[in-house]
Amino acid sequence: MTLKERDKKHLWHPLTQHKLHAESIAITKAKGCLLYDEDSNEYIDAIASWYTCMYGHCNEYITSRVSNQMQQLDQIVFSGFTHEPAIKLSEELIKILPDNQEKIFFSDNGSTSVEIGIKMALQYHFNKGEKRNILIAFEDGFHGDTFGAMSVSGLSVYNGPFEDFFLEVKRIPTPNGENNEAILNTLNDIAKTHKVAGFVYEPLVQGAAAMKMHDPEGLNAILKFCKNHNIITVADEVMTGFGKTGKHFASDHIDTKPDIICLSKALTGGLVPMALTTCSQDIYEAFYSDEISKGLFHGHTYSANPLACTAALASIELLQSDAIQQNIKTIIASHKRFNEHIKTHPKVKSTRQTGIIFALDLNVEMKRYGSLRDKLFKFFLDHGVFLRPLGHTIYIQAPYVITKEQLEQVYNTIEDVLEIV
Ligand SMILES: *Cc1c(COP(=O)(O)O)cnc(C)c1O
Repeated sequence: MTLKERDKKHLWHPLTQHKLHAESIAITKAKGCLLYDEDSNEYIDAIASWYTCMYGHCNEYITSRVSNQMQQLDQIVFSGFTHEPAIKLSEELIKILPDNQEKIFFSDNGSTSVEIGIKMALQYHFNKGEKRNILIAFEDGFHGDTFGAMSVSGLSVYNGPFEDFFLEVKRIPTPNGENNEAILNTLNDIAKTHKVAGFVYEPLVQGAAAMKMHDPEGLNAILKFCKNHNIITVADEVMTGFGKTGKHFASDHIDTKPDIICLSKALTGGLVPMALTTCSQDIYEAFYSDEISKGLFHGHTYSANPLACTAALASIELLQSDAIQQNIKTIIASHKRFNEHIKTHPKVKSTRQTGIIFALDLNVEMKRYGSLRDKLFKFFLDHGVFLRPLGHTIYIQAPYVITKEQLEQVYNTIEDVLEIV
């Protein structure tokens, strides 16, 4: 029996309607930007396996560091114990995070890092004796699949069964350069009539909303408003963190810095799961008290797992290396050239780019999980490229180590797919 066949017996895949999509592709090996399946087909991983493996799959620098760490210390409870990989990671991260970030809290996936950010924002006010119960979020945001994260996510197509159980959230549109004043008026109205605890947002690029990009000035104005009203700002940089926008963090492009930042995905270079919620000294101090109940009573078994910390440390070193920084510049320039070439194509409605993230919208209506989308997905795979269209949007978020030739193949395949829509 093939892996594909054996898979069907006991496995239940994420974000999958198994009656409609019965088969999964069995990947047996990955190296650099390439994936290999059980039938020996080869695919360029042009979305870095959900934006995680930015330094390439099975990166030898990361795997060898983790392999050494494995001989030394595998796992230890992080309440009451500590270890050098976590300490060193905190030291290295604080050097590159926005200046106001001082403390780092560990967890193990992006949704949970947002969940923790929300809990920090709510308890911050609670600890100060103020009950604030409303959150603000963008209309099309995506922040994960746990309850708090689902509540602030605006993409609610799949949230139907759970909506009655959500936190209370007020939504604002993303700033487009023209609606900035209207957004501030809406915020003013919300702040007058509600007790707002926090604002949760994806800075500059909203991943699951099909790489929707917004105006940095407008976002800055929103963040300033929040600061003035003591609304805790929670930047979900789970996707945008670690170089995607051309700077280390999307928040580096914006003057007003968030109180809290959520990180995961590229943090460990895709080797093992880990997430972080970082915060300013002011947030931390609201929990620092003689009263035990004012602490943050949240923890996970694998918090700050030494192997994950080591993978993150190696990844951050790579991110800061001249080689990777040069690759990022090269990819940005290359996308710009491709954009000039493709943007006037009759099948292309619009294009956009932030850093190494490039997206184009097709000039056709398409359901997010419709049959045309499936046809495009299959076309890409048949041509050796793993791209995952989101509705009528095709986007690239390739590993930083993608070669010129591989990137050309990705562009050419996108150009070819335009002929079948
Ligand atoms: C992927 C993602 C999440 C959720 O992370 P998981 O690790 O899948 O739980 C949250 N926010 C953003 C912006 C993401 O891209």
